[in-house]
Amino acid sequence: MCYAIPGRVKEIEGRKVTVDYFGQERNALNEIYGLRAGDYIYAQGGYVINKIPEKEAQEILSVWKETFFELQEVDLKLSKLDLEAKKFDSRFSRILDRAMEGTAPSASEALYLFNSANREQDQYLYKAANFLRQKYLKNSCCVHGILEISNHCSLNCRYCGISKLNRNIDRYRMSIQEVVEAAGLSIEKYGFKALVLQSGEDPGYGIEDLCYMIRTIKDKYPALIFISFGEVGLEGLEKLYEAGARGLLMRFETSNQQIYENLHPGQQLSTRLLHLKKAYELGYLILTGGLIGLPGQTREDIINDLFLTKELKAEMYSFGPFLPVPGTPLGAKEPIDKDLMLKVLSIARLIDPTEAKILITTAFETLSKDARRQGLMAGANSVMLNVTPLKYRQQYAIYPDRAYQDELIQVQIEDTLSLLRSLGRAPTDLGVVHEKQVFSQKK
Ligand code: SAH
Repeated sequence: MCYAIPGRVKEIEGRKVTVDYFGQERNALNEIYGLRAGDYIYAQGGYVINKIPEKEAQEILSVWKETFFELQEVDLKLSKLDLEAKKFDSRFSRILDRAMEGTAPSASEALYLFNSANREQDQYLYKAANFLRQKYLKNSCCVHGILEISNHCSLNCRYCGISKLNRNIDRYRMSIQEVVEAAGLSIEKYGFKALVLQSGEDPGYGIEDLCYMIRTIKDKYPALIFISFGEVGLEGLEKLYEAGARGLLMRFETSNQQIYENLHPGQQLSTRLLHLKKAYELGYLILTGGLIGLPGQTREDIINDLFLTKELKAEMYSFGPFLPVPGTPLGAKEPIDKDLMLKVLSIARLIDPTEAKILITTAFETLSKDARRQGLMAGANSVMLNVTPLKYRQQYAIYPDRAYQDELIQVQIEDTLSLLRSLGRAPTDLGVVHEKQVFSQKK
C-alpha cells in the first residue's frame, strides 16, 4: 500500500534517480522509459513504480504536506530518549551509548544486551532502538501486502502447518487469473505499491507459470513484486527476475545447521543461503530472517541469525516467533514470551541501524495483541497486511488462529493507518538504494 507520497524527480543519472519529497531527498532505481527530471513519480522499496500526472501529484501533495510534517513531529516527540543517568549496569549502558553514537554492538555485546534480565533495562533497550530508527529512517513505515496464492507444499518442515505431513487441512491453489485479479484489486483498489506473492513449495505451478503470472501483473499494474515460493532454483530466480520480480522473501529459518537439518528433512541450509546470495547478485531486494523459539535454539543462535541477516544484505528483517501447530511433530512446544520478540527486534535495529526495514510479523501479532504498536516502538518500521481472498485465507494455516485471518483488507488498512497516525508514522517507503544494487542489476 503505502499511500506513497508522490516525489518529484530531481536528477537522473543512468538508472539512478534522485527524488525530492518536500525538500528531503531519496534515491530510487528507475525502470521506466522516458522518465525526465521534473516528472512526478511513486517510488517503493527504492524503485520507481510509476509516473503520475503533475496535476494529480500536486493535489495529493497538498493534502500530504501538512500531515507529513505533523507526523514527523509526533514521531520525534515519541522517540525522544530520556538521557538521564539511569542506574543500569555499566556494560549495558556503554554498549547502548556507543550504539547511539554510531558504533553497532558486536556479537558478544548484542548477546549481553539479550541476556539482560532487568525489565527497566529492557524498556530502555526498546527505546534506544526506537531512537535509532527515528534518527536514521525518520517516520517512514512500509506497508506491504501479502497474497498467499497456494497452500500446497511438497516439503516436510516439521514446524509448519502447511507442510506435506499435515493431513488436517484443506488445500487450495489459486489459478493464475485469480492471482492476477487479487493482485490488481490490492494495487488498484486498495493502493498497495508492493506485494509479496507467497505459497508453499507447490509443484502445481511451474516456473513458467509463475513467470507468466508476474509478467501479467507487472504489465497490467504498477507495483513492486516480491516472491516467496521457496527454493525455486537459481535458474528459477533468474527467470522470475526477468519476468519482473524485484524482491525475494525467503527466511533461512535458523543459522544453526544442526537445528536446520533436524527441522527440514532432506533440505540443506547451504542451498537456502545460496538462493539468498544469488538473488542479491541478481538485484533482488532481500527479505529474510528466521523463527524464534525453535527447540534447541540458544540465544547465541538468535544473535547469529541477526548477524547473518545483515551479512545477507537484507532490505528487510523478518523474524517471528515459532508458534506450535497441534498435530505436527512440534505441536506440544510452548511459544516464547513476547518480550523476547521485542528484544530481537530492538537488537536487530541496533545491529543494522541506518537502513534496515524491520518487520512486525503476523506471527508476532498472533502471539501478542499489542505486538504491532510495541514493535514499532522498539525499532521496527514495517508491516505486512494480508490481502489473500477471504475464502482462502484461513486455509493458509502455517500456524493456528493467525491474526487478521478474517479481517477485510479495508479494515486492516484503516486499523493500520490509525495506529501509524497515533505514533506519528507515515505509511511511506522512502527507500535507500544500495550501490550494489545499482551496479549488479541487469540492464
Ligand atoms: N515456501 C515459502 C514460504 C513458507 S511459509 C518458503 O519456503 O519461503 C512462510 C514462513 O512461515 C516460513 O518461512 C516460516 O518461517 C513461517 N512459519 C511456518 N510455520 C510456522 C510456525 N509454526 N510458526 C511461525 N512461523 C511459521
